[in-house]
Amino acid sequence: MTSLLHAAYNSSQFREQGHLLIDLLADYLQNIDTQSANKWTKPAEQLHLWENDARQTNADVSSFFEMVLADSIHLHHKKYMGHQISPAAPVAALSSLLSAFLNNGMAVYEMGASASALEKIVTDIFCKVLGYSEQAGGFLTSGGTLANLTALLCARQVCGGNDIWQEGQQEKLAIMVSEEAHYCIDRAARIMGLGAEGIIKVPTDQHFMMQTNLLEDLLDKAQKQGKKVFAIIGSACSTSTGSYDDLEAIANFAEKHRIWLHIDGAHGGAAAFSQKYKYLLKGVHKANSIAIDCHKMMMVPSITTALLFRNESDSFQTFAQKAQYLWDNAEEKEWYNYGKRTLECTKLMMSIKVYSLIRTYSVQVFDDFVTTLYDLGRTFAQMISAHPKFELATSPSANIVCFRLVKNKMSQEQLNELNGAIRKNILEKGDFYIVQTAVRGKIYLRTTLMNPFTTEKELSELLHYIENLAL
Ligand SMILES: *Cc1c(COP(=O)(O)O)cnc(C)c1O
Repeated sequence: MTSLLHAAYNSSQFREQGHLLIDLLADYLQNIDTQSANKWTKPAEQLHLWENDARQTNADVSSFFEMVLADSIHLHHKKYMGHQISPAAPVAALSSLLSAFLNNGMAVYEMGASASALEKIVTDIFCKVLGYSEQAGGFLTSGGTLANLTALLCARQVCGGNDIWQEGQQEKLAIMVSEEAHYCIDRAARIMGLGAEGIIKVPTDQHFMMQTNLLEDLLDKAQKQGKKVFAIIGSACSTSTGSYDDLEAIANFAEKHRIWLHIDGAHGGAAAFSQKYKYLLKGVHKANSIAIDCHKMMMVPSITTALLFRNESDSFQTFAQKAQYLWDNAEEKEWYNYGKRTLECTKLMMSIKVYSLIRTYSVQVFDDFVTTLYDLGRTFAQMISAHPKFELATSPSANIVCFRLVKNKMSQEQLNELNGAIRKNILEKGDFYIVQTAVRGKIYLRTTLMNPFTTEKELSELLHYIENLAL
């Protein structure tokens, strides 16, 4: 045994370093609001800082943890209102550490017995909350992007017309999706070889919801062009503005034409846990599949996504492949050998992160999180509407609120420049963290209220801050 290897696996050093890290993070959590939400540095400066660090070997890992903490964005800050990632709940983050340490591979049951059983329990809870029957089931996978691709691969195998896994694509296949859908749907379709022609974009209305009254005509047109539409994707909700498509209407259309309905619920699928806001997902139980990111609206560290199927048996059709070294019985529908249904082979023990929250605080904690933040989105929208200098993109359904500063006599272009400059200023000052989005040619300041401790006070401070910028 070399001395380096000995040191790298030394249990007393681990204990010491672990205590240091937990203390550091607990202090951070306690005092975060005395610091800024974000410390902006230019990429070259940041690189320089780390190049200096990389010149030395340093056994003192605590200074490394401190440096990373200082130069990272702080999601637990009340003025963090940017991208849609959860401030991780401590118990779920500790479970992440457990997963990282144990490193069970998860592709087969024996490489992660506890996490495999918990994956069934967790995904069954999702299915129940969504209103699915006993036939339903699913699994966890790494991210909404991968979950959407996996669902579409399954949809194509089930509704694509022939055994595509064996024979390849024989027809001109297409999907239908709202023009406001997340870019990963477009990407998934292109990965699958559908090309631009295979992506039928459905226009949205003034609330950025799919115009479902256009579906019949669009399908008709596609069929006349010789395309076979095998899937339609509903957004619940859209990323830019947090708009929920009318899932009921889409489900009726999909059912009538035997098209697979997949819901991209990466952000807003978790609303199913909210007694107050689950109405936004009305009709979701009719969907063939739905993806829900737990690292967005469920307080779980990245990256953990549930992919649920109305008929669990469908999920075994996606990859009809045999891997003899992994499974003795490649054809069997075994719930516990997750690698049969996921694109990933090795994956994280994601279920323990979700389950640790459920076990400690009950599923009610997800209701509290979603409801608090969706309520806050509505409060913020009211504050913006009541303010003469600000304009909303649309009244929000979720915790995503897009707005802009408006000034008299400014052209659209000048307003875009102004709001772009506001966002840049906010990013560089670091007191708040917000992002921006362009919808229909207009630049909006985009906030996603991800922190349940954010209150009207911080929101009103943000509006004041923007108003008083000398731009
Ligand atoms: C965030 C998001 C995605 C992408 O999910 P990742 O987990 O980041 O891969 C897909 N769709 C929607 C609607 C999203 O909000």
